[in-house]
Amino acid sequence: MLDFFTIFSKGGLVLWCFQGVRGPAATAPVNALIRSVLLQERGGNNSFTHEALTLKYKLDNQFELVFVVGFQKILTLTYVDKLIDDVHKEFRDKYRNEFQQKGALGLLNGTFDFKDDFMRLLRDAEESSKVRAPTVMKTFEQSLKSQKTVKCMIETRGEKPKEKVKNKKNKGSKKDGTEAVAAPSKASVGDKQLSAAGEKEELTKDEILQKNREEFFRRHMKAGEKSRSPKPDAQKEKGKKPRVWDLGNSNAKVLDYSNSATNGSAETCPVEEFDPDMALGDKNREPGRLYDLEYESDDEAEEEKVVQNPSKPSVKKGGLGGMFGMLKGLVGSKSLTRGDMDPVLEKMKDHLIAKNVAAEIAVQLCESVAKKLEGKVMGTFTTVTSTVKQALQEALVQILQPQRRVDVLRDVMDAQRHRRPYVITFCGVNGVGKSTNLAKISFWLIENGFSVLIAACDTFRAGAVEQLRTHTRRLNALHPPESHGGRTMVQLYEKGYGKDAAGIAMEAISYGMCGAGGGGCCPGHCRPLRCLPAAPARNQGFDVVLVDTAGRMQDNAPLMTALAKLIAVNAPDLVLFVGEALVGNEAVDQLVKFNKALADHSMAQTPRLIDGIVLTKFDTIDDKVGAAISMTYITSKPIVFVGTGQTYCDLRSLNAKAVVAALMKA
Ligand code: GDP
Repeated sequence: MLDFFTIFSKGGLVLWCFQGVRGPAATAPVNALIRSVLLQERGGNNSFTHEALTLKYKLDNQFELVFVVGFQKILTLTYVDKLIDDVHKEFRDKYRNEFQQKGALGLLNGTFDFKDDFMRLLRDAEESSKVRAPTVMKTFEQSLKSQKTVKCMIETRGEKPKEKVKNKKNKGSKKDGTEAVAAPSKASVGDKQLSAAGEKEELTKDEILQKNREEFFRRHMKAGEKSRSPKPDAQKEKGKKPRVWDLGNSNAKVLDYSNSATNGSAETCPVEEFDPDMALGDKNREPGRLYDLEYESDDEAEEEKVVQNPSKPSVKKGGLGGMFGMLKGLVGSKSLTRGDMDPVLEKMKDHLIAKNVAAEIAVQLCESVAKKLEGKVMGTFTTVTSTVKQALQEALVQILQPQRRVDVLRDVMDAQRHRRPYVITFCGVNGVGKSTNLAKISFWLIENGFSVLIAACDTFRAGAVEQLRTHTRRLNALHPPESHGGRTMVQLYEKGYGKDAAGIAMEAISYGMCGAGGGGCCPGHCRPLRCLPAAPARNQGFDVVLVDTAGRMQDNAPLMTALAKLIAVNAPDLVLFVGEALVGNEAVDQLVKFNKALADHSMAQTPRLIDGIVLTKFDTIDDKVGAAISMTYITSKPIVFVGTGQTYCDLRSLNAKAVVAALMKA
């Protein structure tokens, strides 16, 4: 039933391997496991799926070994966990001396004759899964019902809610304990009441209940009165009056752009007069440079203090200082056990969750760190504090540096060489900052000498087109054609509202290809066909087309289908998911569902998924940077840009170390 079982060293030496009769070779799936899980620090749940296989693995950190078993994922093999544990134990016990005495050389020259032992363990494990005690039905006497008296089944008004609470508390955990189990819950209820109000100590249960109920009614009566309190006369007036802004225009006709004369065209927005300093922010920056995220960690300062005063115990409580402090005692040649680490891991998990890492991911991360350290023998001069901290930091940095890096400038130049525009599509829910960050990216591209065509494909949200028009005007004001040899550096392609977004994107891309307007050069749309030889001189086209899409909720199937269509039809070079750093679990949910929806709603055999992330509003979260970890952990997609404010210069590239420093800060 097993496809393979392999034991290899962390250095990559295969020590022993069992190959099932018809199973596929272990090489490809094990390589995938190493690449995607072990090297990427995603070892939280001991299980990995590769094509049709499920791989389960176990690490031995003392001897630096990895045990991997592979089997078809449609099978439910209940004995696999036991088998892997048994094999691990047997193998290390059998070859303990070799590992301890000869070290790495022992692994190289060692002969590991383990087949008979393995077959025995496999047989035992298979047998143990078959032999399961038949489930015997409980007799009535053994059941909870039999222990109830008729009296306790009679419900009195006051007792009803209490019984319910008690039952709820005991539910699921205990089948046999009645008195013994009920007692602590009673005590805990009592404790709470005592701590809540000392004077209630002498009251009987019924009196406490009565008092609580009276209090409850009193509070609710008050709330009711409040909510029913008469409103001031001014608010009573029915109907809403349109608000007139001081600097705005109250005339609705003026604001109605739905019949705009510019519909259906690429608009060269007139140069706007505005305060460029406000739009630019930092004046001392180097134009066109995408700065790394910065974060000043006081971690190093803290460590320095520790070195200076080694005898003084840290007075800091809670946070990571406290957490790592707990491990300081464990120094020397002791190998770390799960028991040593559990309290620390618990704190570590809470710390990560407090920093906005999604709860499930925090758990998996801690598991991964625990697995990496369990059994590890500490060097004499290394404290467990630093080892655990380092393991967590390494894991976090690894997660933030996914395998695939996106280098937009290099890719744009590559597209330029092929005489076609580089196309980026932005997607995400409403209000996360798609348009704003699209404008920042436009600005950065323009500063790097690339011309940009913005495709207004949010044909749904009122004001979306005008928002892009304003950005286009401002970007043109900052980079007028005069300073670029007469070349218009940014242009808006829009068709107003209510039209098919996929079609507009396609026309914009065609327009960007040749600058001929309305997809003029290549009827039938040249982009998917890449009719490169026919493309006219590049100075008429655009280097980059940025496609803004309407915000949509990840659960809205029709809108997600439309997005999948837009992406499938236009085959952009880069699909960026825009997500806010403000949210923790929600961002993960959005990202996962967007990716899934693109896969589900795409007609193509190999659907086009999200390539990278734009993490916005990073300036609003202080050191609660967990969303960055959650998003990359769950999808392995790189964070390509980070939005750090509302000016055009507030665009950064992700600096994994800075994010990790913020995350580790106590
Ligand atoms: P869209 O609906 O996704 O296109 O979102 P918008 O681009 O309209 O942005 C919504 C709001 O978020 C606007 O008020 C933006 O100014 C603001 N915003 C966007 N990015 C950032 C950012 O990085 N930092 C801050 N503080 N605000 C941002």
